Amino acid sequence: AILLFRMGDFYEMFGDDACKAAPILDIALTTRDKSHADPVPMCGVPYHAADTYLRKLIDQGFSVAICEQLEDPKTAKGLVKRDVVRVVTPGTYLRTDEQSAQFLAAIAVDKQATGVAFVDVSTGEVWCGEYSSAAELQEPLQLWQPRELLLPELVRTQAAWAWLTPWAEAAGVCLTWRRPPRLAQRNPEQRLCAQYGVAHVGALDLDDVPLAAAALAAAIAYVEETQQQLLPHLRQPKRLAQEGYLVVDATARRNLELFETLRGRQRRGSLWGLLDVCCTALGSRRLRRWLERPLLDVAAIMARQNGVAALVANPLLRAQLRSALTHVYDLERLLGKLSFGSANGRDLLQLAQSLQVLPSLQSLLAHGGERELERLAAAVPDLSALAAEITRTLTDQPPHGVREGGLIRAGADAELDRLRALSHEGKSWLADLEQRERTRTGIKSLKIGYNKVFGYYIEVSKANAALVPPEYERRQTLSAAERYTLPELKQREADILTAEERAVAREYELFRGLCERVFASLNEVQQAAEVLAETDALAALAEVSAVHGYVRPLVQKERGLWIRQGRHPVVEAMHPGQFVPNDLVLGEGREMLLITGPNMAGKSTYMRQTALIVLLAHIGCFVPAAEARIGLVDRIFTRIGASDDLGAGQSTFMVEMVELAHILRHATPRSLVLLDEIGRGTSTYDGMSIAEAVMEALQTPGRAPLTLFATHYHELTDKARALPGAANCSVAVEETGEGIVFLHTVVDRPADRSYGIQVARLAGLPEPVIARALALLNAREQAAAAGAQVATTAAGSRDESSAGLPSKACCSVVTPPGPLPAPGLTADATTSEVPPAAWSAILSLLAECAAVDVNQITPLQALNVLHTWVDRVREVLAWAASK
Ligand code: ATP
Repeated sequence: AILLFRMGDFYEMFGDDACKAAPILDIALTTRDKSHADPVPMCGVPYHAADTYLRKLIDQGFSVAICEQLEDPKTAKGLVKRDVVRVVTPGTYLRTDEQSAQFLAAIAVDKQATGVAFVDVSTGEVWCGEYSSAAELQEPLQLWQPRELLLPELVRTQAAWAWLTPWAEAAGVCLTWRRPPRLAQRNPEQRLCAQYGVAHVGALDLDDVPLAAAALAAAIAYVEETQQQLLPHLRQPKRLAQEGYLVVDATARRNLELFETLRGRQRRGSLWGLLDVCCTALGSRRLRRWLERPLLDVAAIMARQNGVAALVANPLLRAQLRSALTHVYDLERLLGKLSFGSANGRDLLQLAQSLQVLPSLQSLLAHGGERELERLAAAVPDLSALAAEITRTLTDQPPHGVREGGLIRAGADAELDRLRALSHEGKSWLADLEQRERTRTGIKSLKIGYNKVFGYYIEVSKANAALVPPEYERRQTLSAAERYTLPELKQREADILTAEERAVAREYELFRGLCERVFASLNEVQQAAEVLAETDALAALAEVSAVHGYVRPLVQKERGLWIRQGRHPVVEAMHPGQFVPNDLVLGEGREMLLITGPNMAGKSTYMRQTALIVLLAHIGCFVPAAEARIGLVDRIFTRIGASDDLGAGQSTFMVEMVELAHILRHATPRSLVLLDEIGRGTSTYDGMSIAEAVMEALQTPGRAPLTLFATHYHELTDKARALPGAANCSVAVEETGEGIVFLHTVVDRPADRSYGIQVARLAGLPEPVIARALALLNAREQAAAAGAQVATTAAGSRDESSAGLPSKACCSVVTPPGPLPAPGLTADATTSEVPPAAWSAILSLLAECAAVDVNQITPLQALNVLHTWVDRVREVLAWAASK
């Protein structure tokens, strides 16, 4: 850690620390002893502004040790005693200005399993879980995005953890490696019992996950070691188990833009950006947890829906609740500050103000006429006495500091009032003295002042020095004035100052007492935070549902999705009034929808909106549709767009295939799978073959997940017709004289063509390029059509699906990678300028090719056929070259 060394009003850094910190903090690097041959580098920051500087260092991934003066320098003999009072690390730094969670994570491993714990020291939120392999940990780490990760040193060199360091670097996570004796707590149970004040860890429900308990103990030990105290506000751990929740993995979260947009990584434009209209940070965090862990239990979903429905139906109640919530501060963070001992008077007042909202919130909820709201009302704790005590004790605008006085109201404490009266009396005595001495000496400008070094003094300007009576004792000479004291002033000074000092000390004592009172009610305050968070999150869902005209979906156990007039929540919010709603039916006997249609028609939007509607339904929210029945979905998989992982050494196509493999392995009949343009990252035939094989695999009877499959391979529409559980649909466009118009309407038939060139024209590709592309397309289509015809004649059959592309029989010959075309046969030669004689030579060759039954022919026959073809191809090429 970088050591910040308190010296009077500054924190100083020395040596290497100073050299590292000065450029980061943008402060001057000086030396401690300039005259020395080898002076020690040094830099410093004022102690009252230390937090700003601290944060800069933490954000750069440094830990900072704070060394304080432990004695009052005024009274200390010799060197002032100092010690490190805490170490601030990226995972234990209190970012009080941020709403989102800031986790410290710890990992514990043995041969069988891996445990992980996430602790947010600012809010007290704690989660932990156990996994069977290191790889499984990627998911929770990506989801929870800790600031700092504690790891046992021994995993550093293990192959199973090789992904960790690159991941941490990319995600900006600070890795803190710990040696075994420190991390693997010899007695984790004891540590957990001490933290939570329980006799046995059984009370924490961690019996069956010893490594999760060990990881949590490691995190708590680290917090204690760095903060040199236990943090009482840490909550009991919740379990990270995925069972019981709809799983949306990192890829799907990214592709569906749940928390940030794909491009720009902005919150605005994501589902979260739309939903988070919470009034409090408590509510925001709660809603985010809901979205991260959608429910899989119909009864629990219904309960939440009931709450949302009641608030949608009663706009007045919703508005009243939301208006009350605007007075609520971040209670969890305030408790965090109190735990860390860094809370001030303003924080306590904010806490009291938040608690004062509880009675009216309770009565609003109780009269909401709905069971879920009544449950919340019943859970509201009575904290009015605590709130009243705080507001009765503290001044309306307490200062930032807690040791300079000005915190406690007059009348709040008899002892403080007495000390203040004494000090006040002294001050009026001083005023009287000033007046009396002015009259006695005749010096009108005489005044009484105070400074820390000389105490109270009488100041007389140099011009009036001659008028000063002899009993005045000189204390200090300034350029324009002299300062004196009098015996009676000296004597009274001690009384005034002592009274003042004692009053300030008493104020601090009373403030600490208030903090203790809050701690005595810690559980109730945390419960209040729970209720406030939940109410706020419910009200936010209701607000979004009401404002955007969502409907209550019927969530049911039966598999299948039935959506009438569904919309994409984010796209519609960005362009109000312009969105074209669409229906969707997926379920028994119709597990797969193959979606075709031109680029830009809205295929991806249609798929994504389906997933978002499913997700919203599972968090208990209303959905953007006219009507919806949503069968429980266990997992949403997506394979959408190009997501290169070049950093991890994988190409776009490789990433696509890895994701696809993952889906094929893990999708269940209850999963929702979105596949967008599978196979487009490779050659047409490879890609199409992969796509077709994937369609077949996803249609395995009894295992078929609900799948939306968007593609530009029109050949696959026949496959969709042939597979019993698949159906075709397309997004319609209208062709006009000037080009195409996107209707964004999903119709129950496949698209006839792809309109890629028309879309390219819309995108502004130069006209000559468009004209050339059209000519090439034309030629290709003609050639293919003619080829297919000849092939039909030769092979005696024709597969209709192949219109526009060579038939499948032909594919089997063409697919193997061959040498590049000879220089003479350029793309030009395949255009319509090729003379008919050449065409018929080429076509008859192709027809012969297509007629070969590869499964029947012997190797020798194949070689002979190949030989004659090569000769004939060479003839054609020679002819083309001569042109
Ligand atoms: P590509 O094949 O090129 O990936 P696509 O068919 O997947 O295209 P989308 O990306 O879904 O098309 O949509 C293209 C544009 O059309 C988007 O800007 C989107 O906002 C708009 N859009 C899509 N669906 C609708 C709709 N139902 N109503 C209104 N606008 C829509």
